[in-house]
Amino acid sequence: MSDISLSLDFSRLTQTEEEGAEEIQERDLIIIGAGPAGLTAGLYAGRAQLRPLILVGQSFGGQAATTSEMENYPGFPEGIGGLALAEQMASHAKRFEAEIAYEEVTSVDLSTYPFVINTYGGVYHAKTLIICTGTSARRLGVPGESKFIGRGVSFCATCDGYFYKDKTVVVVGGGDSALDEGLYLTRFAREVIIIHRRDRLRANPTLQRRARANPKVRFVFNSVVEEVMGEQTVKAVRVRNVNTNEESLIETEGVFVYIGLIPNTTLFKDQLELTTDGYIVTDKRQRTSVPGVYAAGDVQDPWFRQVVVAAGAGAAAAIEAERFLAEKAFEDQAEEDEETKGE
Ligand SMILES: Cc1cc2nc3c(=O)[nH]c(=O)nc-3n(C[C@H](O)[C@H](O)[C@H](O)COP(=O)(O)OP(=O)(O)OC[C@H]3O[C@@H](n4cnc5c(N)ncnc54)[C@H](O)[C@@H]3O)c2cc1C
Repeated sequence: MSDISLSLDFSRLTQTEEEGAEEIQERDLIIIGAGPAGLTAGLYAGRAQLRPLILVGQSFGGQAATTSEMENYPGFPEGIGGLALAEQMASHAKRFEAEIAYEEVTSVDLSTYPFVINTYGGVYHAKTLIICTGTSARRLGVPGESKFIGRGVSFCATCDGYFYKDKTVVVVGGGDSALDEGLYLTRFAREVIIIHRRDRLRANPTLQRRARANPKVRFVFNSVVEEVMGEQTVKAVRVRNVNTNEESLIETEGVFVYIGLIPNTTLFKDQLELTTDGYIVTDKRQRTSVPGVYAAGDVQDPWFRQVVVAAGAGAAAAIEAERFLAEKAFEDQAEEDEETKGE
């Protein structure tokens, strides 16, 4: 580890604005997002003595925290809850002086250096940035969906499943998340109806076997939800068979939507190179198209989407950020020495 990074300046700057003085915090490293990628980046950067600031946004632990039972994170042979794992990761990072702030980033300016990061709480300048903003659930985009969010429409069985004790719920989707969450819902619900637009599931074979063997699970194939209906709360979904175009109503009190994910990259549009699907483009060293800006986890990974992969990428991004700062400090010092010599 280079000593140069230890001598970096953490001083606070003060900028005078029209309304008065606004404090701007200057940081060596800001990490946006507190899922597995962000928290692991925080741990590694903390151990490199960068005193990173992790900005949490709306969901501490990210997507991982919505998972009730994680059976594939190494070191936990009995499995571990997603939130419990995130809490462990956070206390590990904090042990090495990573700071965690419950602030959501509202905009960034990556065209200036240091980079500018605005949150609802304030303004930060960062010499390096690691973006770990993950993904959000894709919405159905049908009438009634937005109206009933929180009143029958949900994107998180772990968060809301308990409210559906002895009720009938539908799950929309046919991938891993749909089946995983559908199976979780069978703990509470009387019946779980999985509506999928194709004639076969995309989920892994183990999940498929478990779902088919569960007497509470029923499948409705070749069908799409056209409308979520109700009064104060959800009462039914209108479903269309994609082969026959026949429509029918399925009575239900809960609609759980798992039809894919959208990367949380709106903040970085026109500032970083993105794929056509909106994921941040990185190289093998987690570098983005802007030097000093790194991305890790699901926000740059449409392929694996696993906690262990996100955590690994977060670690790699932090190592890279430390190297960048050390090299920059060395170059700045050399430039300064050159100038002094010339005087
Ligand atoms: C239902 C479900 C079950 C899963 N089960 C498993 C499993 O069993 N095993 C497994 O390995 N993986 C599982 N996954 C996948 C796993 O959860 C993800 O791969 C992992 O969480 C990705 O981590 P991440 O840190 O990249 O992003 P996320 O965990 O999504 O975290 C994103 C973070 O960014 C923050 N953020 C976003 N926008 C902003 C902003 N503007 N300002 C500040 N912060 C912001 C969020 O608040 C959040 O803290 C599951 C996923 C789902 C949805």
